[in-house]
Amino acid sequence: IKRIGVLTSGGDAPGMNAAIRAVVREGLHLGLEVYGIYDGYAGLHQDRIEKLDRKSVSDVINRGGTFLGSARFPEFKKESVRREAIENLKKHDIDALVVIGGDGSYMGAKKLTEMGFPCIGIPGTIDNDIPGTTYTIGFDTALNTVVDAIDRLRDTSTSHQRISIVEIMGRYCGDLTLGAAVAGGAEFVVIPEKGYNEAELLKQIQAGIDKGKKHAIIAMCEHVTDVNVLAKHIEKETGRETRATILGHLQRGGTPTARDRIMASRMGSYAVKLLIDGEGGRCVGLMNSQMVHHDIIDCIENMKRPFNQELFDLSDSLF
Ligand code: ADP
Repeated sequence: IKRIGVLTSGGDAPGMNAAIRAVVREGLHLGLEVYGIYDGYAGLHQDRIEKLDRKSVSDVINRGGTFLGSARFPEFKKESVRREAIENLKKHDIDALVVIGGDGSYMGAKKLTEMGFPCIGIPGTIDNDIPGTTYTIGFDTALNTVVDAIDRLRDTSTSHQRISIVEIMGRYCGDLTLGAAVAGGAEFVVIPEKGYNEAELLKQIQAGIDKGKKHAIIAMCEHVTDVNVLAKHIEKETGRETRATILGHLQRGGTPTARDRIMASRMGSYAVKLLIDGEGGRCVGLMNSQMVHHDIIDCIENMKRPFNQELFDLSDSLF
């Protein structure tokens, strides 16, 4: 292969820029030409493709977001649209594509691979919800952001003997919530992997109050329940002022942590080396501190994410 493309797709995550930079610089280092594709699959379809050089990725390692831009582009599910996208890649003589994104983006990469165009997926999402890897780029930065928010809520909750519910991103993966709960010392953690029983939660909160707890922080993964409604129920049940804080998109932004930059650099470089070795249709990941790669189709269809039971037990025993 001589020319590769790189794009970021789906939800943005801090560290994506560091991953693009690694793909570009490792590619150039190994004698490839590298093309940047703007706004994910949308830009691929609209032929917004530009050659990148070393300088194109100067001063981006420290920046959150993705300078290539990202987009939701549901039209990419249509085979005819993907066919046109492949034509654009061929027009630029691009032989392979690195896709940085979440599981939706992997689906797009998988389908392009099935149509004969080799893609390599790099896991970029704050949710940590991708199979075949124990780590996704952006997770650590988001985790630190959430812990910082919990620390702040704790200060004000303690002063007012208030109960705080913090809604944390993760889609249907509780890793961000669980990590933040342990690091932030939250009293309760609710994650999709463990189910949810409101009556049981209310009982436990009351038990905490009876034991003399001055405040409570409930770390709640998004999509589990309506946190504002829950806040009303808790107030009614306990008589304690209760507030819900939905952290929302602020979890996606910010300067990437060193861990995210290093991970993004390793994954970006590894993806390029795989392409040089003639591998296509793979996704890269981290397992036992080592870079690994899997068949992207097998990864999406068959692999399961492991659940960190030890951390969950810890959140329970340290409460
Ligand atoms: P994420 O990659 O963060 O999970 P999305 O689920 O929005 O984000 O996916 C990003 C993009 O990937 C979509 O907007 C679409 O262009 C593409 N995509 C998602 N699912 C598919 C699919 N089944 N087939 C082809 N392309 C897809």
